[in-house]
Amino acid sequence: MAEAPNYRAELVGVSGHPVSENPTVVMQEAASLSWASIGATSRVEVLPADLAAAMKGVRAFNMRGVNLTIPHKVAVLPHLDDKSDAALMGAVNTVVRAGDRLVGENTDGKGFLAALTRDAGVDPRGRGVVVLGAGGAARAIAVELALAGAARLTIVNRSVEHGRELVDLLNSRTPAKAEFAAWSGSYAIPVGTDILVNATSIGLAPNVEDKPEAAYESITSGMVVCDVIPAPTTPFLAEAGRRGAKTVDGLGMLVYQGAIGFKLWTGLDAPVKVMYDALTKAFGRA
Ligand code: NDP
Repeated sequence: MAEAPNYRAELVGVSGHPVSENPTVVMQEAASLSWASIGATSRVEVLPADLAAAMKGVRAFNMRGVNLTIPHKVAVLPHLDDKSDAALMGAVNTVVRAGDRLVGENTDGKGFLAALTRDAGVDPRGRGVVVLGAGGAARAIAVELALAGAARLTIVNRSVEHGRELVDLLNSRTPAKAEFAAWSGSYAIPVGTDILVNATSIGLAPNVEDKPEAAYESITSGMVVCDVIPAPTTPFLAEAGRRGAKTVDGLGMLVYQGAIGFKLWTGLDAPVKVMYDALTKAFGRA
């Protein structure tokens, strides 16, 4: 007897405000073609005042889960039943529905780590790291690097309060030793730095010509220099490349954070190459 048709679709999505230019859907749609049960990947504008209702909707629509972007990553915390490492990061970028429970995850830092280790072949264990920035991306990256065995982290930030908060978090919750450096004027990268990360929003479109204020002559060829901006290159990476440093752009981070989310939603390994290709095409790099 022929099997009864099953037209049931399960949804995933990304919510934020504004959300129209968020590239996540491009790669998640491409990935879900390989997993027939995901019926639709939607990009949904959710106003801050509607976040609680939207989270109820994730349950009501039986969604597999949802990605969150600005301004919901911290505001969502009270609407969740449980958190994984998100509690340590203090922000959630991926919500996973497990039965009727909503679990908060943060895949940004793990995505960065996957791009660094798998694509660039760099092992952070025992390394000295400088992170420019102390916002959501910087927190996720710094914590994952520390948990992955980085020995020393210097957090360089314009706002002293945000920078010190992250340093306290690293020193109290991870085995790494962290210190704060106030960012005023041109920052010289200290001798002994192995990995340098621009985790600020400097260089984000439309301000693609901007770069962090740093003494670029202090970058050496032995360093690995990373940017969170998901562009083929940035003025920051170009400066590093000119000095012979190995560079890692933010596209890999974006793909892997999505791939980790896909696995959390479906239980399946994500088609990473399919996701890379979809984003590369969307960003005009094909
Ligand atoms: P936040 O707003 O949380 O943090 C921004 C950080 O940048 C803060 O540390 C802020 O310093 C610093 N900053 C901003 N402007 C300046 C400036 N002119 N001079 C010095 N410091 C500055 O943003 P997020 O952490 O969420 O995002 C940061 C970047 O990471 C964005 O470009 C985002 O697109 C990217 N990102 C990339 C991902 C990927 O997968 N590739 C994933 C997630 C984010 P202060 O504390 O002083 O305000």
